[in-house]
Amino acid sequence: MHRLRKNVWLLFIATVFVSILLTFVMSVYTWDKHFSSIKSDLNHAHALTKSYLLEKIVKMSEIFQLLDKSYNNRNQDQINLIFSTFIDTIDFDRNAGTNFFQGHLTFDREFLDKQKPEQVFLKNSFYYTTQKQWVTPICYRFSEGDVGCFAIDLEDLTTLLTRGARTTGINHVISTSDYWLIHNSFFDKDQFASLYSANMMKGPIAKTLASHSKSLKEEIGLSLDEFLAGENSHSYQQRVLNGEHTLIMLSSVPTYNLFIASGYTYSEIWRQFLSYIYGIVLLTIGFNTVLFFLFKRYDKLNEKHRLDLEYKNKHDSLTGLLTRRASEQVFMEEHPISGTYVLAEISINKFHLINERFGHHTGDLLLQYISNYLKNYCTNPCYLIRDIGPDFFIISPDSESDKIEPAIEQLLEEVKKPIAIGDVKLRLNIKAGIFKGNLSSISYREALKCVDLALWKAKKEQINLYTYTEETHEQVIQRSRIRELLDDGIAKHEFHLVYQPQIEPNTGVLTGIEALARWNSTELGFIPPLQFIDIAEESGLILDLGRELTTIAINDFKDILAKTNKEFTLSINFSIYQFLSDTFLNDIDEIIGNSGIPPKLLTLEITESIFVEELAYIKNILLQLHERGFHISLDDFGTGYSSLSMLSKLPIDEIKIDKSFIDNIQHSRPDYLLVRNILAIGKTLDLKVVAEGIEHTDQADILQRHHCHSIQGYLYSKPLPKEEIIAFINKNKIQEYKKYKIKYK
Ligand code: C2E
Ligand code: CA
Ligand code: CA
Repeated sequence: MHRLRKNVWLLFIATVFVSILLTFVMSVYTWDKHFSSIKSDLNHAHALTKSYLLEKIVKMSEIFQLLDKSYNNRNQDQINLIFSTFIDTIDFDRNAGTNFFQGHLTFDREFLDKQKPEQVFLKNSFYYTTQKQWVTPICYRFSEGDVGCFAIDLEDLTTLLTRGARTTGINHVISTSDYWLIHNSFFDKDQFASLYSANMMKGPIAKTLASHSKSLKEEIGLSLDEFLAGENSHSYQQRVLNGEHTLIMLSSVPTYNLFIASGYTYSEIWRQFLSYIYGIVLLTIGFNTVLFFLFKRYDKLNEKHRLDLEYKNKHDSLTGLLTRRASEQVFMEEHPISGTYVLAEISINKFHLINERFGHHTGDLLLQYISNYLKNYCTNPCYLIRDIGPDFFIISPDSESDKIEPAIEQLLEEVKKPIAIGDVKLRLNIKAGIFKGNLSSISYREALKCVDLALWKAKKEQINLYTYTEETHEQVIQRSRIRELLDDGIAKHEFHLVYQPQIEPNTGVLTGIEALARWNSTELGFIPPLQFIDIAEESGLILDLGRELTTIAINDFKDILAKTNKEFTLSINFSIYQFLSDTFLNDIDEIIGNSGIPPKLLTLEITESIFVEELAYIKNILLQLHERGFHISLDDFGTGYSSLSMLSKLPIDEIKIDKSFIDNIQHSRPDYLLVRNILAIGKTLDLKVVAEGIEHTDQADILQRHHCHSIQGYLYSKPLPKEEIIAFINKNKIQEYKKYKIKYK
């Protein structure tokens, strides 16, 4: 899960936790309050029951005392009369069968002996068959020793005891001190009956209380019997009474051989407590539920926002295509691709010129055009990716390659015709590199590098489409080795120059020599100049290398001039990157200015690949070089991009016809005509024309006939080391060449 998302949910969990904690604290607080109020309720109810019972007993005892005075002389009617006179004062229901009887109850002697004379005492409740009801006997030991009892309706007694003293959930048990049950409001009448018939009226109370005995001893230091023998009250918790956990208040009334236990069942305490915290719990649940949905919504929005951002990060806003960087993440980490794939990279050549000439809007429209074009061909399972600038990648399984490759070729062909982009019509030069390989054995990133190489090769070799091969790879490895050693080579002065003579064809006189660089690397051996110059240009080292080579050339030339004692020119090759460097003029002044060599003997050769947009700048540099007296030569004339109009715009003194035009002049009429025209243009523009790569006398012948100023080539000499060129010049070793018939149709 994403970190932010995780944090949001952690915050939610923390909030839930805090709210639950708060609820818990509030519940504990509520419980505390509730429990102390329960305790005080229990004490209150217990005290009321006790005082109510005792009050009735005292009143009963007053009646008994009245009866006692003349007990033996009274018959039942008189007793009833006395009773009915006083009965109102004790609140028993007169008609509910409150009864006086004598001798109906059997008391064992021992029990009776324990009862003090003229004293009221209570006996266990029982079912009075004569009256057909449950009764509680309240008895009295008359002064004569006899015992008389009132049988009070048990329900009456219950009503009496609980009136005003009953709080919901509180029940009372009244028992004789020898554990006979008098009243138990935990039980209804039926339960009471079943206990009675099972002769358990004594049993359960005794049993229950016996279990309390030990803890009583622990709590107050008295056994139960000791407790009951004295006038004690004590409340204690969590005792099982009648099968339920109960908070108990126990009091003994030794005067009447009674004890009273009042209990609040925990289930009731809890029920009440829960009804109090019910609201809080509901509130917490409600709060957390609302919170959950809020967080969920927030999380959803957040996630959507994140995914949107991620999408934007991964996709190019202009074309909607996956970016190269994102594609590496996707295809290497998220959904690694495997199997044999075709990777194509397509690049619009000189795209920056389109941007500059027609504006970025047109550039954008063009990128969209290309992207849409490719999208038509690239459907699942093919992927389209945009690299920075005008480069696109297509990745498709090998099985699709027969669709993709023709599509690319078609695109390359189609854009050569003018296509409408916005308001303008453009002809494009698009190059493509292709790599086919198994992405299970080579990483996606490596594959991208390979296709980069293939594209680079296509551009370098000016071909539409180049397919990557192992050989390309080797070349690239070689290039990177060269790149690595180049600095070192310059620092260790591993470079030297060789010189090729330029001859005036009519006279055979030496007009100049061209300096050509050589590198014998200690590590790699001989490396052709085209290779290391190219790498030096790519890596920017050309500036250092150029300074080194110019210095060598100037020093050599001084030596050559001194040792030959002739006047001829030295042509030095310069890269366009040197011309474009800020320090170029300074470097020239520094190296050549102080050499003492007259600038007019120096020709600076620049290849024709001058870009149109750099023309103004180059022109300025060339003018400054002109001012200093140097000659400027346009090398490889006819192979690059320059137009004829450039020739008139730039301050150029010389053009060099490229070897490729010379190669076939003796056999091919078009080539011949081309060279002838170049020579005519040179004449028109008053430029010196040098032809290079002359290997055959008939080539030299043609050039001579058409007034080429100077020719250079193996026919006269290969480029020679300094000492050899000195010897060459001194011996004037220029071969007499025979005049051959020109072999063209
Ligand atoms: P470039 O300036 O066009 O030089 C002419 C190339 O043609 C030289 O190759 C030369 O050896 C070769 N050549 C001359 N005559 C003949 C011929 O009759 N037959 C054949 N097959 N080749 C002939 P090289 O020396 O290998 O140089 C290749 C290129 O490297 C040069 O082409 C130039 O562009 C570049 N280069 C060489 N030295 C320098 C340098 O010092 N600075 C710069 N910037 N570039 C240099
Ligand atoms: Ca040259
Ligand atoms: Ca050349």
